[in-house]
Amino acid sequence: MQTPNMKRLLPLFATLLLLSPQAYAWGRKGHAAIADLATANLTPAAQAQVTELLKGDLDAEGKLSGRTTLAEVASWADEIRDVAPKGTYKSWHTRSNPVCGEGLGGCKRGECVDRKLVEYTAILKDRSQPHRARNEALKWVVHLIGDLHMPLHSGSNKDSAGQKIEVRLVNLKTGKNPTLHTVWDSELAVLALKQGPLAAKLTTSASLTEDAPEQWMQESRAIARKHAYDPLPGFACGNPFSDTVELDKRYQQQAIPVIREQMTRAGLRLAQWLNQTLR
Ligand SMILES: [Zn+2]
Repeated sequence: MQTPNMKRLLPLFATLLLLSPQAYAWGRKGHAAIADLATANLTPAAQAQVTELLKGDLDAEGKLSGRTTLAEVASWADEIRDVAPKGTYKSWHTRSNPVCGEGLGGCKRGECVDRKLVEYTAILKDRSQPHRARNEALKWVVHLIGDLHMPLHSGSNKDSAGQKIEVRLVNLKTGKNPTLHTVWDSELAVLALKQGPLAAKLTTSASLTEDAPEQWMQESRAIARKHAYDPLPGFACGNPFSDTVELDKRYQQQAIPVIREQMTRAGLRLAQWLNQTLR
């Protein structure tokens, strides 16, 4: 039951959420779908370590979470950001690589998605690290591989990765107009997941090198250019939109298979990454 006070506050919370500059790549469902696909492709040795590392797992407030699967912990990195002092973890989930260039976006103090992934992978791999450190490293790795594959977490057009572009989806009611970034995180991702669970089999046991995250990010940036920005009517390199952009059915329909492919890649690569990290 909502109290009268809550009723008054809810629109305020909704507004705050819309105004929040934080990006929630793929949303909870997307991260869970990626984690489930990875879980289905783990080696028995990696699965045994995952089970061990999730024992005594804590939630964002430091209480026992009771979570035992990768899917359940896949959004923990977003949850801790919500309760941390503002600005903490700010740039950890993204990297603003220009969609119209070859260079990489900034990464001060190593605080960006691909560098954090490499950093936490080293902790996860190191069995001399305390249980809690490896438990949290596992949760970061699961989350960041998902984020990296969300095109707008790897590509930007001087518009905070689409967070400054207001859009309107022609056939979907969204209340206030969302941003381009938000619809790729949420509305379009939900449409993509409606087509059924992700299913794919990892067919390689080849070793990935430490530069794999950067390569995945480059690929993701190219996809941001081709499928998130280029199809926008009036798109121009380095020239952010000032008016609301309409996303017609054609835009949405071309995005859906791209999102499913990126989520599938993320799930299989997460499995491959964990299989070699948790031997
Ligand atoms: Zn994130």
